[in-house]
This record gives sequence, C-alpha cells and structure tokens, in this order.
Amino acid sequence: MRILIVGAGVIGLSSAYCLNRAGHDVTVVDRHADVAAETSFGNGGQLSYSYVAPLAGPGVVSKLPGWLVRGDAPVRFRPRLDARQWRWCIAFLRACTRRRSDLTTRELLSLSFLSRTLMHELIAAEPQLDFDFTRSGKLVLHRDAAAMHGALRQLEFQRTLGCEQYALDADACVALEPALADVRPQLAGGIHTPGEDTADCRRFCAGLEGLLRARGVRFVMETGIDRLNVSADGHVFALHDGAPLDADHLVVASGAACASLLKPLGIHVPVYPLKGYSLTFDLQPGVRAPHVSVTDFGRKVVYARLGSRLRVAGIADLEGDSLAPDPRRIATLRAETAALFPDVGSGAAVEWTGLRPATPRGTPIVGPTRFRNLWLNVGHGALGFTLAMGAAALLAERLAGGRHSALHDTFAPAG
Ligand SMILES: Cc1cc2nc3c(=O)[nH]c(=O)nc-3n(C[C@H](O)[C@H](O)[C@H](O)COP(=O)(O)OP(=O)(O)OC[C@H]3O[C@@H](n4cnc5c(N)ncnc54)[C@H](O)[C@@H]3O)c2cc1C
Repeated sequence: MRILIVGAGVIGLSSAYCLNRAGHDVTVVDRHADVAAETSFGNGGQLSYSYVAPLAGPGVVSKLPGWLVRGDAPVRFRPRLDARQWRWCIAFLRACTRRRSDLTTRELLSLSFLSRTLMHELIAAEPQLDFDFTRSGKLVLHRDAAAMHGALRQLEFQRTLGCEQYALDADACVALEPALADVRPQLAGGIHTPGEDTADCRRFCAGLEGLLRARGVRFVMETGIDRLNVSADGHVFALHDGAPLDADHLVVASGAACASLLKPLGIHVPVYPLKGYSLTFDLQPGVRAPHVSVTDFGRKVVYARLGSRLRVAGIADLEGDSLAPDPRRIATLRAETAALFPDVGSGAAVEWTGLRPATPRGTPIVGPTRFRNLWLNVGHGALGFTLAMGAAALLAERLAGGRHSALHDTFAPAG
C-alpha cells in the first residue's frame, strides 16, 4: 500500500521504518528541509523505559501554587484566551489522582518495554546506525526524605510491573556517579535503574532517514501540509499549496502541531504544546561530568552524556505554540547545571527550545480514526524518543489488520 506520513520527527521516522519493513510503499513529508527539525532535535536524550509515570500525579496539585508564583519553578502556566489550553488544564487536573496515575504508569510501561525490546532489536539489525547510543543506566536523585519516601513507594509499585530498580543512599549515589561528590550533603538518596539507555534523538532520526532512503522511502521535504481534505467517498488526502498528495493511507505524525491539522476534520485530539529547554555542553577532557544518566527529580532536570557532549533538559511551560526562548528559563537551567555539576555548568552551551506534544494524561494516541484511511501517531509528550519504536510497531500492526496486543485499545484515538 502507498502510505504518506506527515512529519519527519522521531515518531514519523520510526513509523516509516516499521511500515517499510512491512513492505509498504512509504513517503514522508515535512515542512522543514531536514528531518528532526522540531521537537526531536534537542531533547533530553533519555530512553527512559522505566520512568514513564505521568506529570499528572497525585503530588502535583499541592505543588501547583508554588509553581505558579516561583520564577524558577520547573513547571509554569501562563493563562491565555485559548479554550484548548483551559480544556487541557482541566483534563490534566482531573488526571492527578493516585488511581489514574498508577493506571497510566502501567499502560505506558507496557508500551515502553515493547519499545526497549524493539530499539535493541533495531540496533542489532542495523549496526550502521550511529546515534551515541549508550546503555548508561539512570540515577534519579531525591533531595529530601519525603521525596525519597514517595520514590520508594513508586519503586515497589513498579517492581510488581517488571521494573528492575534499586534504592541507593547518598553515599551509594556518589559511588555510582563520582561526579556528584560535591553535592553529596544535599542528597537524600536515589533510585538506580540499570536498564535505561541514552542516545541522540536527532542523530537517530538522521540515521533512519539515510537507511530508509536507501530502501526506497521517499522524503518530500520543505513541503508543509496546509490542510487535510475528505473526498466524497470518505478518503482523506493532504494538500500542499492547493495540490493533493495522494496515498492509500495517511499517517499524521506531526507532533505538537497535530491538533490544528486534524481539527477541520472534526477530530479533536487533546494535544497541547509543553515548552521545554535544553542546553548542550561540549565536554573538555578532564571535566567532571556524569556518565550515568541523571535526573534531578525535584528540579525536573535530566542530564545525559551523548558522546563527548552533555545534554541538559527540563522545564515545562504551558503557554501556547511559541518557541521563543525566555532568557530567565535558560538561566534557570544553567544555574541548575552549575549547582549539580560545577565543572560543566560554567561552560558555553548550545541553547534549544522544543514543544512536547503533550496529552493531559501523558498517553500517546496511536491508531485508526473514523476515516478509513487516516491514522494517528501523536501525543507522546515527554517520552517520544522512548516510546517511538513501540508506538510505530503498534501502528504498523494495526494498519496491516492485526490487533494482537491489548495496547491497541489502550492508545486508540477516542471516537
Ligand atoms: C526539553 C525536552 C526534553 C525532552 N526529553 C526527552 C527525553 O529525554 N526522552 C524522550 O523520550 N522524550 C523526550 N522529549 C519528548 C520528545 O522529544 C518528543 O516526544 C518527540 O520528539 C516528539 O516527536 P514527534 O515526531 O511527534 O514530533 P516532532 O519531532 O516535532 O516532529 C513533528 C514533525 O512534523 C512536522 N510537521 C508538523 N506539521 C506539519 C505540516 N502541517 N506539514 C508538514 N510537516 C509538519 C514538523 O516539521 C516536525 O518535523 C523531550 C522534549 C522536550 C521539549
């Protein structure tokens, strides 16, 4: 079948990989000249298979007042005259219960474990892919006893779901990651997950592009899809500059921009942009920087070594579609880095902003729509790199008529 994928980010490219392997004639279309030019460009680089608990959790509501007033809060909400933003916030707040959060964690772990298996199979099958992939393991740091207590509860819960994680005291954290030695007195402890990976998402996408081009996948770049139209017999097709790009099936994988593309068809996906930032430091020889992937839980900042660079990412600002960087947010991220890894934080860094395509519950939307040839793979929020291979495999299986996994129903578009 001829399949057109809108979006050359990590989700569109992983989908293209799985659909090409299934024997389809695949074309990827994107408005930029290069693949991974938007959110998949500079993300945190964490393949975070065991850390999928959603932002919408039971602890969030009590933290909200502080987040709303503190300038350096990890999450910020700027109210706008935008019904979509308010609907998203209400659905988010409704999801902030223990029951909902545990259910979402359970659902996402099933998808992330599938993704891990498929990512490792991909790496074995395609040894030419070079994207700074490391089996780094991950250490999540907690700075007070209450946070550590919550983490232990989560560890026990996730152990029942198959996660291999270990609680460490502050000394053990430093023994595992000596670059934390200076901050040892500030640590209450940490959770170590040996099975987590890190990699460069943009390089992953560029590698997939090369491999797919060699296998006959077409890339139609610098081609924005202005709208989706429906023919009299219910067939959806994409339009660029008034001209149709036809295919048997159309997959929307357009990240944070998907809601506006789908709305004219009457498809309302609850995907809203959550703006984040990253800094990328070139590591000079001898500089003390982490080898393990580190998450500073309270500050919601992640640190991942990508070859000879350190990627630092964090901040979630709910303030619309603008990518314009706020210098105060960059200063916050830089200050966090300097506080945890002083050798690194004072150096020059490449600054970047991106829009997480976030759903209120934190679950992606993958599968068919009420239009027989229109499919979605959107809404992966803070976990798009982590979930990409699993979501793409689900999509390819469903498109081929299969629905062996219960996951199809879990992540299927509503209505
Ligand atoms: C600060 C930050 C840190 C993050 N850290 C991590 C992490 O550590 N681990 C992790 O797993 N995830 C992380 N994420 C999330 C992850 O980056 C995203 O979930 C993922 O990149 C989304 O991929 P995507 O392909 O859906 O979107 P994108 O990468 O944005 O791709 C969508 C593509 O669609 C194209 N497009 C959109 N509309 C149109 C149109 N009308 N016509 C043509 N083309 C169009 C765009 O040009 C774009 O190339 C992070 C995100 C941020 C912002």
